[in-house]
Amino acid sequence: MQIVVLKESATDEIRVALVPESVKKLVAAGNEVSVEAGAGLLAGASDADYEQAGGKVSANREELLPKADVLPAINRPADEVLAKLKTGAIVAALLRPLDEPEKLRAFVENNLTAISLEMIPRTTRAQAMDVLSSMATIAGYKAVLLATENLPRMFPMLTTAAGTIPPARVLVVGAGVAGLQAIATARRLGAVVEGFDIRAAAGEAVRSLGAKFLEIENVNAEGEGGYAKEVGEDVMEKARELLTRAAANADCIITTAQVPGRRAPLLITTQAVEAMKRGSAIVDLAGANGGNCELSAPNETINHNGVLIYAPTNLPATIPVHASQLFSRNVTALCNLLAKDGALNLDFADDILNGCCIVHAGEIRNERIREIIQSPKSKV
Ligand code: NAD
Repeated sequence: MQIVVLKESATDEIRVALVPESVKKLVAAGNEVSVEAGAGLLAGASDADYEQAGGKVSANREELLPKADVLPAINRPADEVLAKLKTGAIVAALLRPLDEPEKLRAFVENNLTAISLEMIPRTTRAQAMDVLSSMATIAGYKAVLLATENLPRMFPMLTTAAGTIPPARVLVVGAGVAGLQAIATARRLGAVVEGFDIRAAAGEAVRSLGAKFLEIENVNAEGEGGYAKEVGEDVMEKARELLTRAAANADCIITTAQVPGRRAPLLITTQAVEAMKRGSAIVDLAGANGGNCELSAPNETINHNGVLIYAPTNLPATIPVHASQLFSRNVTALCNLLAKDGALNLDFADDILNGCCIVHAGEIRNERIREIIQSPKSKV
């Protein structure tokens, strides 16, 4: 199997899809891995590191693209890249299929196979390939650091000769992978933490990290695959009221609430922001999907009455070495699923491949994506 890794083209993207450690394993398993020169430089991997791992490095993209059987990437490659791949080539990347379904057109037109890393089932067998969890872990961690860097106060309680400083109070909204990592990180730094989710099962995880679980009585919005379902306006209203009360006591709020394929739920209203103290901060990790905070704007810093609101859309890229390492291990596990005895072998009877392969042989394979594309509002 010929695996090709390119330098990512998005301006804020400095991660790389495969690091030398994984190249070594893939080559040992009988694959050939070619890497575009400079692809890993900003993620701590030089061209020499790739060569030492058994990869072939080339500065000539035109030469690399037509030979790829598999092109793992962090983000969806540009249409001009897709047009140069051979028929049947597999692109495995974060393709945002539910958010940007119209961008799948190039895969259909060029007869490519598209694997959406977001659609890998959240099952025990697929855990080693779970890019979403890897990246959410990093985002949750970094969100807390972003807050600590910008808050005018410290997180831990300190008892000093000059008196005692109370611990910071952190509210984490959405206790999935990113939220739980944010809770754990804030706790490690000594903050007093509260966590909120509409899935009742999240309560145990929140409490196990030493945080208090905030919940709405008799609400459990657990849907398919462990994800949350969209809830009605009555539940959302109760959630906003509860969070407005909690916001008044918080020095920092980290929001991570998402429902796959939907606009992120609006949970922190302007009124809640106005209830917060001056000098407090919000880090909204749902910014790319509309935001959990009414006032957040993607990749901008808003100052509302002295409350700073951040909505960074690509925090994993700010920790490129570890983000690339985890991504690369996930993608390597996926490559092992795609090959049998060193040759490409797509087994659609496999639930993992069946779940994440969204375009194959000129067809959109995923029913939900087909429905979105065929709906009158779609741009396709
Ligand atoms: P996600 O990014 O889709 O959402 C983040 C969190 O937001 C979720 O916990 C969700 O319940 C919460 N949320 C949604 N709407 C909300 C609202 N209105 N108010 C408050 N919170 C709201 O989720 P994720 O982090 O990707 O995790 C989804 C699920 O998958 C979790 O149950 C997680 O434990 C599970 N998971 C399982 C595996 C596995 O078994 N291999 C791996 C990773 C995650």
